[in-house]
Formats: sequence, structure tokens, C-alpha cells
Amino acid sequence: MAKKIERCSFCGREKSQTNVLIAGLDAHICDYCVTQAQAIIKEELSSKAKSQLSKIELQKPFEIKKHIDQYVIGQDEAKKTLAVAVYNHYKRITQPPAKKEDDVEIEKSNIILVGETGTGKTLMARTIAKMLKVPFAIADATVLTEAGYVGEDVESILTRLLQVADYNVAAAEKGIIFIDEIDKISRKGDNPSITRDVSGEGVQQALLKLLEGSVVNVAPQGGRKHPEQKMIQINTKNILFIAGGAFDGIDKIIASRLRTNVIGYSYQKEKESVDKDNMLQYIAPPDLKKFGLIPEIVGRMPVVTYLHPLKRETLKLILTEPKNALIKQYTKLFEMDGIKLEFENKVLDFIVDKSIEFKLGARGLRSILEGILNDAMFHLPSDEKIKKLTISLPYAEEQFNKTNIAKLKVA
Ligand code: ADP
Repeated sequence: MAKKIERCSFCGREKSQTNVLIAGLDAHICDYCVTQAQAIIKEELSSKAKSQLSKIELQKPFEIKKHIDQYVIGQDEAKKTLAVAVYNHYKRITQPPAKKEDDVEIEKSNIILVGETGTGKTLMARTIAKMLKVPFAIADATVLTEAGYVGEDVESILTRLLQVADYNVAAAEKGIIFIDEIDKISRKGDNPSITRDVSGEGVQQALLKLLEGSVVNVAPQGGRKHPEQKMIQINTKNILFIAGGAFDGIDKIIASRLRTNVIGYSYQKEKESVDKDNMLQYIAPPDLKKFGLIPEIVGRMPVVTYLHPLKRETLKLILTEPKNALIKQYTKLFEMDGIKLEFENKVLDFIVDKSIEFKLGARGLRSILEGILNDAMFHLPSDEKIKKLTISLPYAEEQFNKTNIAKLKVA
């Protein structure tokens, strides 16, 4: 009997006509068809990403804000500014390419959020990305270094975005990158010639390249670039960058600018209308420059807004109100064991008080709550009889005192 000729089940090429013929259960595929299939997949994924983008178009600033409201308490000014900036950004990237020379081309508006740590900057950016269903990556500016130094290259931010996007380049190119602690890469003072912090400025220069929009070679697995690694090209033109930072001390810069501006005319009137306790509300790009961001970065991040420090009432609302509020999360966890969890109102105040006392802000709420509930979460799942747990103030105090947070006080 003649030997059966092995051929590709897709194109019919005989084994001898291919470089590689891969055998499956009942079929074969040749290297040509694998390459073609790859191209089809890329095309499909890219059109999928494009169709997702058309959904993005539908979100108007009012709706974007309403969506963020479900997850982030307060911070109305920041929400509004962010909603408009994001809306404009996605309008910009869905506009058809300019045909005539005089067509107006909308420029990208990256955003800077100024506010104390734990006030909701990351949460806000993440919530928007989730709503738009675009890839979202967080980068910590403090670990970034100029190429050639110990630390992470600025391009590593794009690796992360690419990974989140499952290596779908088209999707990553429309993603959102949150750069945390951008204030920590400031040069000291805004006079470059006198007190120059070279490393901070170098990182800013490297970041600038991404912000401006350029084609960057990215190592798909991260790490240092080396010649054998196959690079993926990413165009950052349509990636939205949102940077956050506490900018400690910027209130003094703002105050000084406001004072200088009003000298000589209507001084009294201006002085009266300035709310000294909340200087951040007057923040403007020149303040960021004075703080130590290079003018080019400030120019590329033209939308600047601020977040309020969290007050007691806000912290309490954060515990209970957002769609995935901590109390709701723990209630659900207990519910999954068939236990109804309730809190006396005073316990919520206690948690907020402790978070303020230990200067833990919103982030502390979770650790405190975890500490209070840990014992119960350990024992109750094995106790079939208990169907309800009400956390009283004395119980909360007792449990909290066992935690490491409470011990911080003694130290
Ligand atoms: P930042 O980026 O400003 O340092 P985050 O956004 O990471 O702070 O906030 C830390 C955590 O605190 C969030 O995950 C969230 O649980 C909570 N949080 C902070 N601010 C708010 C807010 N305004 N509304 C709801 N939750 C908040």
C-alpha cells in the first residue's frame, strides 16, 4: 500500500513544500498557515478593540461622572474635570484622521491629579478605565529611572499595559496609564541651573517621550532590553496618562503666587475671597513647574485638578456607600457562610476615629475592619449554629486592641 502523503489540512501543501508541518489529532497545519492565522487573529482582536471603542463614544461627561459617583465619594471637582478630559480624549481618538491640511486636529490632554495619598486618585482613574473597558496599568514613578541606571526603565510601564491587554497591541494603544507619585521625580526648585536633581529630571525627560506620543520598542516580558528579545512596537499617541501626586508643600507655592498676583491692584478684594484652608483649589500649571516638574511635562499634562483631604464624614461614607463599600464586601463574605453580619452605628464611628487617630486615611479602614473581624472570620465558618453576628462597640474595641495597629500607639 502506498504511503499516505502528509499535507496541511488548511492549504493542502505537501510536507515537502513547507518548512514545518505540525501534526494535530486528525489534522496538520503548516508554518505558512500558522503565520496567516496569526495575522487573522491580530486583525480580529484589533477590530474587536475598535468596536469597544465605539461604545466608549456613547459616554458623555455627565454619565462618566455619574458612574464614578457609584465608587468614589465626594471629590466633585476632580470628577467633573476628569470626566470632561476623558470624554474629550476618547472623542479625539475616535475622530476620523484629518483629511485636509486645515482640519483641526485635537491634541491629547493628559491629566494631573493633586491630592494627599489615599484620597481616591488611583481609584478614580481605575474606575474610569473599567467603565470604558480599556486596559489600565499603574506605574510608580519612584521606581523609574533613566535608561542605564538601576531600576525600571520608563518603557516598563508599557510592558505592564501590554500584559494587562493580553498582548493586544491595538487595545493597549488606547489604554490608560496611571503614574503614581509623579511629585517624587521633581527636580528640587524650578531653577534648573542651580539645584538640579539630575535623576528626577532624567526620568521626567524619559517620561516626556511617552506623553508626547511616540512609537516605543517594548520588551514583552519586561526586564532590560537585550538583543535577542523580540520587541513589540507601541504607539503612545492615544494612550491617556493620568498622573497623581501629593505635592507636599505646593499650597505654599500657590499662596505665594496668589499673593504676588494681587499686589498692586484690588488686593483687599482678592484677599477676602481666597479660602486659605483649601489652597489646592487654586492650583494651576505654573505651580507644578515651580514645584519641580519640567515645563515640557507640565505642557503635556495640561489638565490639572485636585482632591480634598478626606474628612470624618467622608470616611464614614466610604465605609458604607460605594457600590463595593467595605461593609458591603464583608457582609457578603459572611453571607457566603450563611451568617448575617451587622454593625452598630457606633462601630462605624470607632473605625473612622481609629483611622484618623493613626493617620491611616481611607486605606486604614480596611485594615481596621479586617482586624476587628478576623477572629470571627476564623471561628464562625466552623460553627454551624451561628446565623447572625452583630458587631457591638465593646467587641470592636476588644478586637481592635489585639491588632498590630493598636500596638503602634505604645511604640
Ligand atoms: P490615592 O491614589 O489617592 O493615594 P487610592 O485611590 O489608592 O488613593 O485610595 C486608597 C483606597 O481608599 C481606595 O482603594 C478606596 O478603598 C479608598 N478611598 C479613598 N478615597 C476614596 C473616595 N473618595 N471614595 C471612596 N473610596 C475611597
